[in-house]
Amino acid sequence: MAIRDIIRMGHPTLRLEATPYPRDKIGSPEYQQLISDMQDTLEESGGIGLAAPQINESVQVVVIEVPEEGTRYGETEALGNTIYINPSIRVVNEETAGYWEGCLSVPGMMGFVERPQHIVVDYINDSNEEVQIELKEFLATVFQHELDHLFGRLYIDHIKDMSLFTYEEEYRTFHLDES
Ligand code: ZN
Repeated sequence: MAIRDIIRMGHPTLRLEATPYPRDKIGSPEYQQLISDMQDTLEESGGIGLAAPQINESVQVVVIEVPEEGTRYGETEALGNTIYINPSIRVVNEETAGYWEGCLSVPGMMGFVERPQHIVVDYINDSNEEVQIELKEFLATVFQHELDHLFGRLYIDHIKDMSLFTYEEEYRTFHLDES
């Protein structure tokens, strides 16, 4: 078990473009340590995704785990704990939908962000294979949020209406019912 510190907005690493992870290192002890640290840290945080830059490792690795329906994230498909290496996004349909997003690196805040709702992500999996996954709606937003972390972007960069950037408590009090 190694729970790592999650760096917060203002830390320069969050604004860097992360380096692609070397494929010949997938499966190495160093790789296994990174993945195990990321999974422990994600589990401890209660979040649904963690990108390596958030633990100050500027490499293109993301762990995502979306829990079953009926969670606080509302109606969505579950997605088991999965590792995405060197991912890239292709937008299938530019049509956007908005969701309230939060981020472990911007604790205590929520913001309403509109993003394309149908994407394909090409990535390298934990077995060093090139694979792709098609995502719609909430899951498409989750992936775009996490992959942004690999390119120095945060969800706050996408908020169009700053009146919809709030503290979590005010989100629950004033905005939850209408979202
Ligand atoms: Zn985030």
